[in-house]
Amino acid sequence: MQKVRTLKGRRAEDSRWIELRIEGERIADVVVGDACGGDACFEGVHLEGVHPEDVHPEDVHLEGVRPDDAPLEHARLEDARPGHLPGNARDAEALGLGDRDARASDTHAGDLYDQGPWILPGLLDMQINGYAGQDINADDVTWETIVKMVRAVWATGVPLVCPTVITGSRERMSRSIAAILEACRRDPLVDRAVVGIHIEGPYISPADGPRGAHPPHHVRPPDWEEFESWMRLSEGRIRVVTLAPETEGAIDFIRRAKAAGVTVAIGHTEANAAQIREAIAAGASLSTHLGNGSHAVLPRLENYIWEQLAADELAASIIVDGHHLPPAVVKCIYRVKGAGRLALISDASPIAGLPPGRYPGFYGEVELLPNGRIQMVGSPYLAGSGFNLLGVVERMCEFTGVGLAEAAAMASIGPQRLLGLQGKTGPVAPGSPATLTIVARQGARLVPRATILAGQVVWKGAWETE
Ligand SMILES: [Zn+2]
Repeated sequence: MQKVRTLKGRRAEDSRWIELRIEGERIADVVVGDACGGDACFEGVHLEGVHPEDVHPEDVHLEGVRPDDAPLEHARLEDARPGHLPGNARDAEALGLGDRDARASDTHAGDLYDQGPWILPGLLDMQINGYAGQDINADDVTWETIVKMVRAVWATGVPLVCPTVITGSRERMSRSIAAILEACRRDPLVDRAVVGIHIEGPYISPADGPRGAHPPHHVRPPDWEEFESWMRLSEGRIRVVTLAPETEGAIDFIRRAKAAGVTVAIGHTEANAAQIREAIAAGASLSTHLGNGSHAVLPRLENYIWEQLAADELAASIIVDGHHLPPAVVKCIYRVKGAGRLALISDASPIAGLPPGRYPGFYGEVELLPNGRIQMVGSPYLAGSGFNLLGVVERMCEFTGVGLAEAAAMASIGPQRLLGLQGKTGPVAPGSPATLTIVARQGARLVPRATILAGQVVWKGAWETE
């Protein structure tokens, strides 16, 4: 594995050319613009001493399988530009985005936009169920499943993940957690990549709609003894749990989880307003994939989506793939929560990253369409996301008009804060971890170019502009 020592490209905050000097696992220095010799010397990223063939012999190449080739079905919000950003100065500061003026001159600036490569904070996907055929929640999951998944995700420009263990029997969920732990033990880089485990369920609503695609026979009320056994099994790696606050014993469970340092998220719920307030008072601080895992039809004004949206104490994660939430809803959630309280997630299905086609699913066949939508065969119901986090960042720019720097922060520094983590990713600045996502911009598309984890190139793609 090669270490990277210098890295040249553009900074998304202000479109300026920068040169990073990396020492060990950290960014030691950032030289900006003319001071580093002018634009002419920055034709592409320069990774000193690195040859693509040396990077990772077992690289998973996923050429041609990004779900973004098909035209978007939704109108683009061309008029939305960063002049009228929501949130506040604290958001910007917390995410390391600098002042608002700098953000307003963000990367939408005409033809500069297509020049790159762009150097972004390393993306952190806090909800991912698998990728490229590797299923964290499969009955036959092993440590190798996890290693393969992490490497496949690196090839999408995403260095950091929270593998997500969803509703199942106690034994199956324990198996998934044990597989993640074993993968971390065997592969030090996978250990760096896995910043925590997300337990989604089984303490969720059994109702059709809120339950989503979780298997109904394994949904059960919160069980602290069971959860504690998973915390021990994971050796303290569980960072977030998603549950429904209206389930029996949930409020007490939330208090205990919060006291144990686990971020508690509300999700797959049909809680009423009082139950949501109670959950917040007990320590819940996040809404998981707000707007999804819900009834198809709701009372238009009094419902759990508005309640969570309006609760300032709750941050939210959202799946911005153009299928889970329409662009207008994404824009509204962003305007209300602000960049500092939003986490972009992929919630990728294990078949995300595979070629379009039919695959076996929980309840029969599912179909991955060329536009990245995954649905039950013969129905319009979603059966997971076919996107990766970089594709979500791309859609976020497209749907809301935010610049690349802000969208990337909501998929890196933002989730890190919401999980109570530090030092996994950070702004492209001296002292930050050298965990970086390098992308090219081709029109509206973001194309991964390299993935750097703690100063090491864990994946490197072609540099040529296609
Ligand atoms: Zn879910």
